[in-house]
Amino acid sequence: MKTVWILGDQLTLENAALAGCDPRDTCVLMIESVARGRQRRYHQQKLVLVFSAMRHFAAGLVQAGWRVDYHRLESTPSFLDGLSRHVGLVKPSHIRILEPNDWTMQEALPQMATEIGTPIELVPNNLFLLGRDEFRVWAGGSRRILMEHHYRRVRQRFDILMNPDGTPIGGEWNLDAENRKTVSEWRRAGCPRPVAITPEIPDSVTSEVIRLVAERFDDHPGKAEKFWLPTTRRGALQWLERFVAERLPGFGPYEDLMLEGEPMLFHSVLTPMLNLGLLRPLECVRSVVAAYESGRIPLGSAEGFVRQIMGWREFVHGVYWLKGPQYVELNGLNAQRPLPGWFYTGETPMNCMRACLRQVIDSGYNHHIQRLMILGNFLLLSGVNPKQALGWFSEMYLDAHDWVMAANVIGMALHADGGFMATKPYAAAAAYVNRMSDYCSGCRYKAGVRTGPDACPFNLLYWDFFARNEKRFAANPRVSMAVQTWRKRPEGEKALVRREALEFLDGMG
Ligand SMILES: Cc1cc2nc3c(=O)[nH]c(=O)nc-3n(C[C@H](O)[C@H](O)[C@H](O)COP(=O)(O)OP(=O)(O)OC[C@H]3O[C@@H](n4cnc5c(N)ncnc54)[C@H](O)[C@@H]3O)c2cc1C
Ligand code: SF4
Repeated sequence: MKTVWILGDQLTLENAALAGCDPRDTCVLMIESVARGRQRRYHQQKLVLVFSAMRHFAAGLVQAGWRVDYHRLESTPSFLDGLSRHVGLVKPSHIRILEPNDWTMQEALPQMATEIGTPIELVPNNLFLLGRDEFRVWAGGSRRILMEHHYRRVRQRFDILMNPDGTPIGGEWNLDAENRKTVSEWRRAGCPRPVAITPEIPDSVTSEVIRLVAERFDDHPGKAEKFWLPTTRRGALQWLERFVAERLPGFGPYEDLMLEGEPMLFHSVLTPMLNLGLLRPLECVRSVVAAYESGRIPLGSAEGFVRQIMGWREFVHGVYWLKGPQYVELNGLNAQRPLPGWFYTGETPMNCMRACLRQVIDSGYNHHIQRLMILGNFLLLSGVNPKQALGWFSEMYLDAHDWVMAANVIGMALHADGGFMATKPYAAAAAYVNRMSDYCSGCRYKAGVRTGPDACPFNLLYWDFFARNEKRFAANPRVSMAVQTWRKRPEGEKALVRREALEFLDGMG
């Protein structure tokens, strides 16, 4: 008898560790570890998502004829405890496992194998479009790699939105020029709004997990009872179908828009399920391409979505394995401020920050621009320590996993990797927020004011950031203009901005 151990973010029947195994001489092992659930103070709904998805997946395996040894969190303090009990019970010749999605688990396996006295065999991870080695070979030893080059290569390789002659459909690889409409353009288009997302009604399995999580992880952020997502493959497929039918047409044009009271807008909210394996990246891409080919959605929306999955998702995954576990230790801008406590309460007079924080505390979700240009931008400009920021993002989001967080937070949002991921820091003042959202009209601060009691903190922090990092960015062609503008401002004005920025930072708690 051999064992296939399936982790909570590898929940697909296409899991390569299962391939070629026969249910007659294979036992599937699944372990809910309390220690893993407490590795960080994960949002309660994240724990519900993972444990409920695992229980449903295990039930599906049993129905399909597999023998499953399932260790529930009520009686399983750690992975090692579950493994030891399994080995005592089943006595497998060896344990097969798909390469874990994170360094911590991957590096822990040899020690576990020694402790249980049973070999653990790693099977190459097939959850992504590109294998880890393939990305590494492509990236070579380059000092900087560009997402756009990677994206074109992946589209060609999988023949997605391509003409027979090898050119991209529509003539351009990237249709962003048609996308990314501002709030004024949205108003001029008659304020289109998406069909509201209907929260999933928990079945008995999910209800039981909600109760357990609320009881045992009551010191974690969020409310388990507000859980709202599907946790089965069937539910996830329906969720994908509804996104394609109802929100995808508006996805491209309004990808960067932010509206109060519209937390998901036209976004897919697929990552919570996709990152667990309930959906496969290529099937998401193909259903979007099929909608385009049948004339139901514009090319801009299809290309925008395809780029997110084949481009960005694969790229950040590749960077995670390319750069190694020490990548998350980087702090290229030497940012040392502690994370403000109100990131866990949302209690701030800044309307944009309050809206995004309340949303993530309530639901475990923000869309990309809220993460990057509101929360990430604030942390970047304030000089919050990247490791603390990473810890917060990892705790709060239902779709958070080490492989996706590292490059997005350390590289993209905080520019802490010296510019490997992004050629410029994603730094923006209030004008950007005002252009892309309706947050500023309901704010106690004024987006157009640069100093004084009404000045938007983003304005103060933006210039303070370039003042602090003047030398570093003066030679960067993508942001040197900001440095030049700062240098030209009168000395008295500069001193005032820096003093007010410092007062804000020192008072932010
Ligand atoms: C600071 C920061 C933190 C982030 N944290 C996470 C995280 O914890 N988990 C996570 O999956 N993504 C994360 N992202 C990436 C992106 O914001 C989310 O994937 C996206 O918002 C998820 O919502 P959605 O499914 O509605 O995506 P949509 O906007 O509908 O996009 C479609 C799909 O594209 C993929 N995608 C888009 N952008 C990215 C990206 N930059 N990296 C990886 N995949 C991408 C996702 O699979 C997503 O489902 C983060 C980005 C930033 C800047
Ligand atoms: S004025 Fe500033 S703080 Fe207020 S919502 Fe706009 S950008 Fe945010």
